[in-house]
Parts: sequence; structure tokens; C-alpha cells
Amino acid sequence: MAVNLICIECPRGCELRVEIADGGVSGVTGNFCPKGKLYAETECVRPTRVLTTTARMADGRMLPVKTARPIAKDKLFSVMAAVNRLLPAPPVVIGQILAENISGTGANLVAAAAKN
Ligand code: SF4
Repeated sequence: MAVNLICIECPRGCELRVEIADGGVSGVTGNFCPKGKLYAETECVRPTRVLTTTARMADGRMLPVKTARPIAKDKLFSVMAAVNRLLPAPPVVIGQILAENISGTGANLVAAAAKN
């Protein structure tokens, strides 16, 4: 079986063809650099994304937040539910950890902006 993907690791957007065999990736073509092969292997076996969203603060304002590293795509909804319960209080500095190991993903949720 083969899957076609667009690499999203840089603006070049290489068109990848990924051969799948025995539940794993047996070959990748179309990648201009090694990052494309790694992206294809991750995307086909255990896709991940950095979650970027907003959290409502205790004073009602919205705060841009993100996970400090990529998390499994199948965890995105449980992390969003946890973000909606946070209600961080000001002041918040950029990069401040708002939740450690959010939803058991192993990633911290951090502020992507400062709010006084
Ligand atoms: S394979 Fe390399 S050059 Fe191509 S889009 Fe991915 S990161 Fe960019």
C-alpha cells in the first residue's frame, strides 16, 4: 500500500510517496531532505502536532497558548477540554507553564503571549 503526503516541515512542500508494509513504513520517496522521511514515518505511524489555541483567562480575556512540543493527534480533543478548564489568572508571562504534562501527553502547555 502507498500513501501520498505533502511534507509540512518547510515551505518547499515536497510531495512524498510513502510505502506501507507490515504496519510500518518500508520506503519514502519525493523528499528533498531527511526531514521529509522522518515526517512521513511519524505521520504514518504516530502523527503528532503542536496544539496552538487560546485559553479564557480568569478575567475573561483570551490568552494564546500552545503545547511546548508536538503531541499525539488523538490527544488533541482531551487537551482542548483541559485548556477550557484552566482559567489562568493574570499576570502571565510569555513561555509560562500553565499546565505540566497536560492530559498525560508528556508536554507542558505554555503561554504564547504575555498578559498583565
Ligand atoms: S522534505 Fe525537506 S525540503 Fe521537502 S518539504 Fe520536507 S523539510 Fe522541506
